[in-house]
Amino acid sequence: MDDEEVTVPTLVEIMSVVAAVVATVTGVRVLRRRRTSPLALPLAVMLFAASEWATARALLHVAAPSVPATVALHYAVFPGAAVVVGAAFWYFLVLSGRTLSRRTAVLLCVHPALLVLVLLTNPWHEAFLRLDVVDGTVVDGVGPLFWVHSAYSYALLVPGIGLVLRAMTRAVPGHRHVYAVAVLGATVPSVGNVLTTVIATRSENLHLTPVFFLVSAAIWAWVERYRQHSRVVPVSTRQVLEALADAVVVLDPGGRLLDVNAAARVLLRRPDGTPLDDRAIGAPWREHLGPELGEVIADGGSRVLTTPSGDVLDVRVTQMADHGDRAVGTVVVLRDVTELERLRAELAHQATRDGLTGLHNRRAFEQRLGEAVAHARSTGAPLSLVLLDLDHFKAVNDTHGHAVGDRVLVAVADALAAAAADGETVARIGGEEFVLLLPGLTASEAARRADEARARCAGAAVAVPGGDVRVTISAGAAELSPDGTSDGVLRAADVAMYEAKAAGRDRVVTAPERGVRRRAVRR
Ligand code: GH3
Ligand code: MG
Ligand code: MG
Repeated sequence: MDDEEVTVPTLVEIMSVVAAVVATVTGVRVLRRRRTSPLALPLAVMLFAASEWATARALLHVAAPSVPATVALHYAVFPGAAVVVGAAFWYFLVLSGRTLSRRTAVLLCVHPALLVLVLLTNPWHEAFLRLDVVDGTVVDGVGPLFWVHSAYSYALLVPGIGLVLRAMTRAVPGHRHVYAVAVLGATVPSVGNVLTTVIATRSENLHLTPVFFLVSAAIWAWVERYRQHSRVVPVSTRQVLEALADAVVVLDPGGRLLDVNAAARVLLRRPDGTPLDDRAIGAPWREHLGPELGEVIADGGSRVLTTPSGDVLDVRVTQMADHGDRAVGTVVVLRDVTELERLRAELAHQATRDGLTGLHNRRAFEQRLGEAVAHARSTGAPLSLVLLDLDHFKAVNDTHGHAVGDRVLVAVADALAAAAADGETVARIGGEEFVLLLPGLTASEAARRADEARARCAGAAVAVPGGDVRVTISAGAAELSPDGTSDGVLRAADVAMYEAKAAGRDRVVTAPERGVRRRAVRR
């Protein structure tokens, strides 16, 4: 080559300069987004290194008249190339949803560091690139270390792209193109470099790799413009799983734990009380999940169960099969319904209770009466009930006001509830009407209990300014006849109660069930 030829830049060199400028500008723009985009830093490092590479390559011919400068530039090409490769691997790592660990970062730095060391060391740099000056022109010839460097570079890019492709298959469908575009952007210069290396070893001055970065820069600029990589470092199904509030546990057909999402790690405890962690993965579920889950997993379907710690879990088990209907595993979805269950129980409780007195309400009483009648008829055991109605209660309201009337109702309710034995039900079934459901008691025993209740109520006083308010009650007791019904015994007690009213109030009348003669218990 003569002076004329080497000082006039070729198209390749002009494009290399343009590539260097574009890579630098893109790098600066991308770097500004490093706080919001985890891909920005590796991308910027890659672009700056590519720019250095392209610059050194482009200046080679401009510097050709000076042999020392040409030699220096020949070597200066390679550190940039090495950093590009390391940064590309970093980029792929982040793109596939991982973070660069300190150890990996150090390992990635080994290649460029060794390379710089080799290039600066005599005679090692000759084993990398031998430069001979022939007639004032520098002639290069690659040595064995160059091939080591090239082989390592590709060996690093292949698993990097592999990681991204694997992440792509796991990504939610709407994000797969983000991986594809990014891989394309990083693949173009790699392919370009292979072509360059193959061609350049035969033909001088066709080092096209930096030029290919123009294409990459354009692709990444597009990605940048649409903010794809900052808005969505693509969402993988893994991340979706992690974001679920429901605990998800995946088992293989052999019952080993394949996956446990973040919610499951919080929700589930081992039998010894320790939380689940990564050690559980690969182990049989029995070693890590309590036995109470075992039944549900074995039976499939869904169930609500209570753990030893008192958590209430809604568990849904789904068997997964492949297209050939072979079992491929089991997905267990667990939801903590402790609070929901508590609310449900509270509502159920409220639905059966009277708001003022806390006694059972009419609905609950009717249900219990139905059950008690069925039980009494099947066992032949006696069953009695007592209806109680406050005497002249309207006068209490009229004299002292509704609020005092309410306090009287509560006092009566408390007195009745305090006297109730286990298995007996005290209910408020009307404004000032109460009932005692007394399984196992005959009419006469019930009448005795009713009279005790009458006495208690008569003794219950509500203090008001100027004295106590007392009320009396009238009661009707009835026993279920052998072929009697709920309605029948209730009606009989009602009739007896009105007879007590008619007989002067503050008394108990027993209904003539089972042939018992109607009689008034003493006043
Ligand atoms: P009797 O001896 O014949 O049963 O007379 P009574 O006044 O008790 O009977 P009546 O059926 O005429 O009146 C019942 C009263 O009970 C009327 C109503 O205002 C009152 N009452 C019903 N529910 C409530 C309540 O929740 N609070 C208060 N304070 N009063 C109530
Ligand atoms: Mg009444
Ligand atoms: Mg009354």
